[in-house]
Amino acid sequence: MKRRAVLLDRDGTLNVNPSAYVTRLEEFEPIAGAFEAVGRLCRAGWSVSVVTNQSGIGKGLVTSAAVGEIHRECERLAAAHGGAFDGFYVCPDLPGFGSELRKPLPGMLLAAARDHDYDLFRSYTIGDSERDLVAGRAAGTTPLLVLTGHGERTRRETDHPEDRTFASLAEAVDWILTRAAPRG
Ligand SMILES: [Mg+2]
Repeated sequence: MKRRAVLLDRDGTLNVNPSAYVTRLEEFEPIAGAFEAVGRLCRAGWSVSVVTNQSGIGKGLVTSAAVGEIHRECERLAAAHGGAFDGFYVCPDLPGFGSELRKPLPGMLLAAARDHDYDLFRSYTIGDSERDLVAGRAAGTTPLLVLTGHGERTRRETDHPEDRTFASLAEAVDWILTRAAPRG
């Protein structure tokens, strides 16, 4: 049976979005309650993957090794709350280079669904930027906006529905868990 999933943006959703790129682990600052929320999702039976544009790699500002180190830290933080990620999908491409993976295109979400047998039409995408919402919708998921990171700006600049808008990942996860079961 296909699995229901929550596809998470990284910067601005799981961790504080800095002014520039997160180039190394020391710059990685989790948002309060974010990894605890990942743990709650997993313990309730939801699948969770991270889907992140990291054009800093393509620009030579961030190394793949540093990204890997940050994602191991994400795994550690999730595990501390009983959670685990199925995968980390990273697009290193710069904007405007015809990438099929870079959000707002849904390529990474579709890859995650293929790899882990997700039922995208019964899954959610959560992010702070318009491109997360667009990619999530294009993949067939229900997109949820969080107001952390660039979320306040996204709320002003899009017509994303208020009843799909949440203060943070923790609130978005509360809503998913009270509303929908991972199966059935
Ligand atoms: Mg983001």
